[in-house]
Amino acid sequence: MSLTLDIPTQRTTTSTLPQLDLSRLEFGQTFSDHMLVVDYRDGSWQQPRIMPYGPIEVSPANSALHYGQAIFEGMKAYKNTEGNITLFRPLDNLRRLNLSAERMCMPAVPEELFMQGLLQLVRLDGEWVPSAPGTSLYIRPFMFATDGMLGVRPSSTYRFIIITCPVAAFFNKPLRVRFEEKYVRSAEGGAGFAKNAGNYGAAMYPTKLAQQDGYNQLLWTDASEHRFIEESGTMNVMFVVDGRLITPAVSSSILDGITRKSVLQLARDWGMPVEERKVSSVEILEAQANGTLQEAFGVGTAVTIAPIAVIGYRGQDYELPELTDASFARRVSAALTDIRVGAAPDEHGWMVSV
Ligand code: PMP
Repeated sequence: MSLTLDIPTQRTTTSTLPQLDLSRLEFGQTFSDHMLVVDYRDGSWQQPRIMPYGPIEVSPANSALHYGQAIFEGMKAYKNTEGNITLFRPLDNLRRLNLSAERMCMPAVPEELFMQGLLQLVRLDGEWVPSAPGTSLYIRPFMFATDGMLGVRPSSTYRFIIITCPVAAFFNKPLRVRFEEKYVRSAEGGAGFAKNAGNYGAAMYPTKLAQQDGYNQLLWTDASEHRFIEESGTMNVMFVVDGRLITPAVSSSILDGITRKSVLQLARDWGMPVEERKVSSVEILEAQANGTLQEAFGVGTAVTIAPIAVIGYRGQDYELPELTDASFARRVSAALTDIRVGAAPDEHGWMVSV
């Protein structure tokens, strides 16, 4: 069927917006009033709908619950200095969603459906986009199998949903991270480049062990030798060594982060040497020992930049210098914020008006 892109909307009669208290928000626990829902069956996407946010019914035999045919994305909308709402690189999220979909034998979401659904949903819940410095509307598009059948094979029906949540400014304390040398997040040839649900469920146990030992996150290493750094928690990771920005090159086991590529682009714009390549734990520890390791930080949509203060390796903690206003991590974080709120020119065409 052809899609009506003036999406039928059932408005909530009980908005929870009056209860929104930005000063007490916990990430991902308060949802805005509406959600976009689209079903896939008989080989095509059906009419999208916008409806009040709320529980959904699924078959207890759906293969998302049993075999993990489920994928998601994470992105943000901002209120700019003129009070207009903008999205940061939404087509990059769509591209990645569809790469994840292909890896998980799920149907691609067409660009028009994704963008119209997203724009109309965010417009409708526009008052949920906060404007205080550091705040935003986190957007979670996701898709899961809906066939009620226990066979281990791709479902023939799916549901694609977008939900959104206002998020408060995130004042993150510099992280304590530890090299992980037993468990792996993903392996070459696995699905680490995709945002499929299973990658995240399987990371919880090793992360919990690290947290019991006083770390916030893991520094994941490669599956075959535990020698090369992959990511940190659910972020890409970067290092500044002797004035050079160094980050693991993306691969089938590393997620191609949108914050990552934005940070690399700004670094290149500023004339900073950028290296995307294999980075070993030993190289980083040596740089720490000889004083050339200036910064380490995670990059991702949720926090933008998360500085690392301590790296644990085989029972020893290695400290990093404290960040200053001249640190690259701080400067690039501020530059991204300025672009997102319209305080600096959007030279790369990253922002999309809602
Ligand atoms: N790595 C993983 C495993 C992630 O889940 C995320 C969050 N999407 C990232 C990196 C950062 O990606 P992005 O900058 O696109 O949020």
